[in-house]
Amino acid sequence: MAILCRQSIAQHLDADLIRKVTTTGFDLFEKHFGFGYPFGKYDQVFVPEYNSGAMENVGCIVLRDEYVFRSRQTEATYQSRANTILHELSHMWFGDLVTMRWWDDLWLKESFATWAASFAASETAADPSAAWSMFCNGNKNWAYRQDQLPSTHPISADMVDLEAVEQNFDGITYAKGASVLVQLVAFVGREAFLEGVRAYFAEHAYGNTELADLLLALEHASGRDLSGWSGQWLETAGVNTLSADFATDEDGRFTSFAIEQTATPAWPTLRSHRIAIGLYQLIGDSLTRVGRVEVDIAGASTAAPELVGLRQPDLVLPNDDDLTYAKVRLDRRSLRTAVEHINKVTSPLTRALLWGATWDMCRDAELPAIDYLDLVIRGVGTESDLTAVRYLLGQAQSAANSYAPVGLRTELLHRWQDGVGSLLAHSAPGSDHKLALARAFAAASQDAAAADLLTAWLGGTAVPDGLTIDPELRWIIVANLARLGRLTDDDISAELERDNTITGAEQAAGARAAQPTAAAKASAWRLAVEEDTIPNGTQHAICMKFWQRDQDVVLFPYLHRYFEAAEAISASAGPWASRGMSLRNNVLRYLFPWPVDKQPFVEELDDWLANTELTGSVRRTIEERRDDLLRALRCQAAGALVG
Ligand SMILES: [Zn+2]
Repeated sequence: MAILCRQSIAQHLDADLIRKVTTTGFDLFEKHFGFGYPFGKYDQVFVPEYNSGAMENVGCIVLRDEYVFRSRQTEATYQSRANTILHELSHMWFGDLVTMRWWDDLWLKESFATWAASFAASETAADPSAAWSMFCNGNKNWAYRQDQLPSTHPISADMVDLEAVEQNFDGITYAKGASVLVQLVAFVGREAFLEGVRAYFAEHAYGNTELADLLLALEHASGRDLSGWSGQWLETAGVNTLSADFATDEDGRFTSFAIEQTATPAWPTLRSHRIAIGLYQLIGDSLTRVGRVEVDIAGASTAAPELVGLRQPDLVLPNDDDLTYAKVRLDRRSLRTAVEHINKVTSPLTRALLWGATWDMCRDAELPAIDYLDLVIRGVGTESDLTAVRYLLGQAQSAANSYAPVGLRTELLHRWQDGVGSLLAHSAPGSDHKLALARAFAAASQDAAAADLLTAWLGGTAVPDGLTIDPELRWIIVANLARLGRLTDDDISAELERDNTITGAEQAAGARAAQPTAAAKASAWRLAVEEDTIPNGTQHAICMKFWQRDQDVVLFPYLHRYFEAAEAISASAGPWASRGMSLRNNVLRYLFPWPVDKQPFVEELDDWLANTELTGSVRRTIEERRDDLLRALRCQAAGALVG
């Protein structure tokens, strides 16, 4: 077994840790899959400029070399790398030993590997539920988001051509598929599931299969008929929303209790779910679970008579323990309890579900951005799952950027900056939280005082206790100072001289693109869209940093230039004749205009979409981004009403 990387980064390679994760994975998969590793040697090669996370060639995994860490990382990043290593390793069985017959079953190998990585982590963790909290905070969050876009599709897709395949490396294929596999494990039972998987490998080794082959093995092992399950979960798209509907008497006891299920008009399927309903009460300083019932629900409304007569608690949590795949709506009192007391919830999985429910409500314009920011500020400092911390800090920033009503936006951005600054000041020296919050503070920085502080950090003064301003953190600070107009081109060049590496070059290009000047935007656009020889990683960094808040004046010309770029991509004109999917997607997705004043742009966009011929894949990406815009407008309108 070999681990390889470029010589110039070998000093940073923590090969012992990577080897330990890998060998633990080998032990687990050989045991549970009942089939010894079939390919002899196993190499893991870290390569530069890689467009995706990793790829499972037989006996030779290729991984992006950002996974060789040059700087301090939080636990979330180590978990994410371990997850990728285990995902690729499980593909040696599910993907390589037994291979899908056709791309229609792409989801099956990707979902299985995604499930297998979390399964392996949960089997080896001191606290198995921590791995599933991470799964909930990461994968399910991704799946719900993707499942609400106009481009969503059934997990089991009809892959008519390679363009369809390329488009479907998405949150449905990976994350939703894995979510329903978790549910399938619960449905047939863990032991029966693993027994079915072993029979499947034994029967189909070195062969090709389709979904029916796996379902048959699982049916034999479990004695259950899976045809209904497959129809509801694999062959129809969309996510259901569950909420509690109840009445209480004057003593505050439930006189009726039901779980309501809804679906969107576009994907109206109502499904069967087994769920737990958790009852939580504030006792002393913690929000404690005082009751739990499991019920099978189906259709629009299912009564839960077990709860009648019980006193209404401070918080009712449908889908407690995360047994099913569904969005959850909290009732008014439960929402208030969650917003005010999330830091008093002891179970990380319960917190993950509450984080998920409140983010859904914010994105669905049912919880104003300002309340969401307050919730995150209250709870993120004590959240133990660093994956949750990473998502929460990013989500709150985007709520402040995009979901706040335009008139309240500046106020919210300052509130967020100050909230993060205060959490940073109070976080433990040297902790992961300190690092995560320092990065978030750089992104949140909005005024001269914050910029002065970041500048001081770069100079080595006023640095928070136990925080090292290492290359990665330095570049995050540089990009944000560039965004705020505090750095010249020469300043950025001087940074590049300090870190004259491929990563440094990418980061410097991103920082230049973030500057609020017409010249910087013109140069960035030319490089990302028109330049023939730009390296992929550099183009990605530029696209990610191009649209910035509070730069509408210099960005205005690019509303129309985006249309021209999309037409050129669709026609494979000019440099696009030879450029691949990643470069195209970076432009379509990340250079999509994000003006403060969204309504006039939506109207122009719709007019252009109605009058322009575009390939299916180009249109799909733009319509996803359009959906994000419309969502932001709905949230802004709802926040304005409340404000
Ligand atoms: Zn994979």
